[in-house]
Amino acid sequence: MIAKYGKKFDNKAIKRTPKWLQDSMKNSKKIAKSFANKERKNLTKCPMCESNKARFYVNIYDFKYVECQNCQNIYLQNPILNTSELYTNDGKDSHYSGVYLSDSIFFNRVKNIIFPKIKFIDSVVKAESALLQSKAEKFLESKMWLDIGSGGGDCLYCAKSLGYKISGFESDLQALNFSNAKLDSKNIESNPVKQGFLDIFNCDKDLLDSIQKADVVSFFNVLEHLDYPRQTIEFFAKNMKKDSFLVLEVPKHKSLASFANLNAPNRVYRHFIAPFHLNIFSLKSLEIAYSNNADFMDDNAAVATGGGGNAYSNS
Ligand SMILES: [Zn+2]
Repeated sequence: MIAKYGKKFDNKAIKRTPKWLQDSMKNSKKIAKSFANKERKNLTKCPMCESNKARFYVNIYDFKYVECQNCQNIYLQNPILNTSELYTNDGKDSHYSGVYLSDSIFFNRVKNIIFPKIKFIDSVVKAESALLQSKAEKFLESKMWLDIGSGGGDCLYCAKSLGYKISGFESDLQALNFSNAKLDSKNIESNPVKQGFLDIFNCDKDLLDSIQKADVVSFFNVLEHLDYPRQTIEFFAKNMKKDSFLVLEVPKHKSLASFANLNAPNRVYRHFIAPFHLNIFSLKSLEIAYSNNADFMDDNAAVATGGGGNAYSNS
């Protein structure tokens, strides 16, 4: 296991001012309340390990989070019935506008947040590949980095700067256009980001093709939004090629962020983002999901980076 904890960054440089935090809290509360009267599910099992033993953890704006007593995963016990309603978008608004799709912030985010993260993943990938191939110097000759849910393109921008060929899928049109403008400079692939999102039950052919070819698949801050997180990890295990790397970034429990949200449930704007974040993953829950795919783990490595917590490779 390779572990690295924390990184320095300057909140002001990325416009995370106290006012931005206050506005985000108000906005998160308003949005959560707007979904509070929707029809709900009532989960009786942990989505990650299927244990039915759970204990109340915290209520966030009328949404109840419980902690699995087997794997310590935290899950939203009463999510809205049709979670796709959370993401209906007429294309005029962008989830990423404001702090993401801005030229001035893009490079600050790259420097302060994204590059250290991608560099760490690259170091894990190279260390593991050296073990696998014993010819690390030839490593980057044709390595393809696929980012699913690529947002404003900052991860791909950094991966490209480290020598990877890049490919992305993003459903938000404004983010897609912004990232292609940033990435589509001379001598590289034209428009490396395509429109699309992962549906494991009916996967887009282009996306499936990319997953099967990629050497590194990054899937950042998406798994916590999905109804079937364990099955999604299984989907990657079935479809990714031998010796490739799956990189997940998820909100992590236990962590300082969980503790902060627990103690100030009325001021939540990240981590327990109700009703969008369906799971706040424990390391054990991810390890259970990986170990269910033991064949995959024999041939591949997973890197997980956790918000409010840590980053690790479990191989
Ligand atoms: Zn569990």
